[in-house]
Amino acid sequence: MTRNGLSLDTLLAQGGHFVDRETGAVVPPIQPTTTFARNDRYEVTDYIYSRNANPTGAHVEAVLAKLEGAEDALAFSSGMAAVAAFFDSLGAGDHVVAPRVMYHGVADLLRRLADRRGVEVSFFDATGADALEAAIRPGQTSVVWIETCVNPTWDVIDIRTAAKVAHNAGAVLGVDATATPPVTLRALECGADIVFHSATKYLAGHSDLLAGVLATGAMNERWQEIQAARTRMGGVLGAFEAWLLLRGMRTLHLRYERQADNALAIARHFESHTGIEAVLYPGLESHPGHEIARQQMTGSFGAMLSLLIAGGAKAAKRVATRTRLFLPATSLGGVESLIEHRASVEGPLSAVPSNLLRLSVGIERADDLIADLEQALA
Ligand SMILES: *Cc1c(COP(=O)(O)O)cnc(C)c1O
Repeated sequence: MTRNGLSLDTLLAQGGHFVDRETGAVVPPIQPTTTFARNDRYEVTDYIYSRNANPTGAHVEAVLAKLEGAEDALAFSSGMAAVAAFFDSLGAGDHVVAPRVMYHGVADLLRRLADRRGVEVSFFDATGADALEAAIRPGQTSVVWIETCVNPTWDVIDIRTAAKVAHNAGAVLGVDATATPPVTLRALECGADIVFHSATKYLAGHSDLLAGVLATGAMNERWQEIQAARTRMGGVLGAFEAWLLLRGMRTLHLRYERQADNALAIARHFESHTGIEAVLYPGLESHPGHEIARQQMTGSFGAMLSLLIAGGAKAAKRVATRTRLFLPATSLGGVESLIEHRASVEGPLSAVPSNLLRLSVGIERADDLIADLEQALA
């Protein structure tokens, strides 16, 4: 539900309930202008220059803020542009805590901040009960960054506990919720201060645009700094991509539901397959994070899962080259199913098991997808 009682599905379907006052158009226009004229008193009106903010971006941001139950949202030219703006204010002496297994691009950025700016970073084991708390340095830790579920092992981190631990230490909690869009998880309501999505993935949903989003629970100094960082670094989302993102989001709830149903069917089917050591999917009752996932996700358990292939890295790579429907490509959240040998993609610093195949499940028929994996494993 949004604050005014509208269900998220309805909000999404209507693209924020848009009607153009002048023309009656039910789809917002793309406003490509880079600059905005002042009024006849030489005052700035709503906009100045499109690197600061632009009307098409503002429309998608308003919808995103409602989806997250946020005070405000900012759209960026990619997920990593958003992450870079989030961490931009950190300097020497600041301490960041993040999971050891996490999206490798963010881990790379944190290592870079450590090398070049003197930011101290502690990586914790997301499967350890009190590992997050143990990694905290009260008074010094300024940011706790978590993912849920953790990519690509899909361990579940309890956002409510993480928020308590972060806030007790005087730190902010940022949540990368890329794998769990707001139709299934609303991180701010679980206590996060800022929620992040690579909108490239589920929100856009069609593997045809790059975008990122940050949404905040409070309009504070940190948020102003993030906004200023976007302007300074030029990471704003372009008007065409903003328009396309809004278009994609209109079907988010339908896509996600189908994708999650397919993922659960695949997970159940392969749970006891002889070619597979383990299926990592929080929707399985056997998954250690199942209970927490049930508490913080509303409805489905997501459409990302990983298979640990019997026979090691070589066998795993062989399976990834033998699927016909699952495309051997990186990324996730699109309507087409993808398969990936994650350790190959992440390189030598990867903390991911070498026999892990990550599946991003699309909206195809579950039977077709299962048959495809069966023949690849045979
Ligand atoms: C893809 C991804 C990112 C980075 O987003 P881009 O849009 O590729 O810049 C960050 N976190 C997670 C979990 C992702 O999957």
